[in-house]
Amino acid sequence: QAKNTGSNSLCFFDTRMPAQVRERSDIEAGLRIALEQDQLVLHYQPQVDRDGHIIGAEALIRWCHPQQGMISPGRFIPLAEANGLILPIGNWVLETACQQLARWAEVPALAHLTLSVNVSANQLSQPDFVERVLEVLQRTGAPAQKLKLELTESALVHEIEEIIRKMSVLKEHGVCFSLDDFGTGYSSLNYLSRLPLDQLKIDQSFVQGMLQDTNSAEIAHLIMLLAERMGLVVLAEGVETEEQRAALLERGCQQFQGYLFGRPMTVEQLEGELQA
Ligand code: C2E
Ligand code: MG
Ligand code: MG
Ligand code: MG
Repeated sequence: QAKNTGSNSLCFFDTRMPAQVRERSDIEAGLRIALEQDQLVLHYQPQVDRDGHIIGAEALIRWCHPQQGMISPGRFIPLAEANGLILPIGNWVLETACQQLARWAEVPALAHLTLSVNVSANQLSQPDFVERVLEVLQRTGAPAQKLKLELTESALVHEIEEIIRKMSVLKEHGVCFSLDDFGTGYSSLNYLSRLPLDQLKIDQSFVQGMLQDTNSAEIAHLIMLLAERMGLVVLAEGVETEEQRAALLERGCQQFQGYLFGRPMTVEQLEGELQA
């Protein structure tokens, strides 16, 4: 088709491309510029313990588009994963998060904070992933013990032996691992027990469903039991109401994240919450 360059071909892009495809390629082109021109930012969503004290945050990327305003990761991360741009974007996220951790480490009132960073499957599968993380930690001076890498089940489907090896090396240096959106993917309980994980995050769909339907409630409960048996810390995502918090607390949930405790916010806002 591409070779069929008839006289109409110049108009093809402008007039016949479906709007969705056009938005897709606009985003792709825009993302390259975003990386070069510092249009990406991290927002920080608090994570709290059973007493409601902020123990850390999750770094969540946003794109401050000069015309469209703030674009959420759901609109560009899947595209970036498909076209490879997730690698430079992921490097930027890791670098920025570690710079933040290094700054917190120097402030006594903030030095206890952990920072969770989302890592895509393609990042994890890069042969130099371990070296890259260790290099950024060393160069920024961020404490490895405060860095938590969030993986999804989809990142753990292929080359499981290689992934276990990579995780183990980073863990020896103090880095922690969390399994994100747990219960929504295709984890095999067999290899789950072999992964050197520290934390399971109960997906927000179960948290939001647990007061309405018994299935969600059962799944949330089972994840908490599983985490306890495996010696993992369990964090509930997407906690929006006091009722959800109470039900999770009662079942033994250890950590919480969600709009009830705070939306993703700028680092200044997060630090303000801690001083309040
Ligand atoms: P995630 O890692 O599961 O992040 C949690 C998402 O839930 C965030 O959406 C957060 O804003 C949202 N959320 C938190 N609390 C609540 C709540 O109480 N209610 C509701 N309805 N939602 C809540 P966000 O920021 O739009 O991020 C979406 C996804 O994009 C993330 O899901 C993650 O998979 C991906 N993502 C974000 N930042 C990065 C990044 O730096 N790198 C990679 N690879 N992926 C990222
Ligand atoms: Mg996450
Ligand atoms: Mg999640
Ligand atoms: Mg999610």
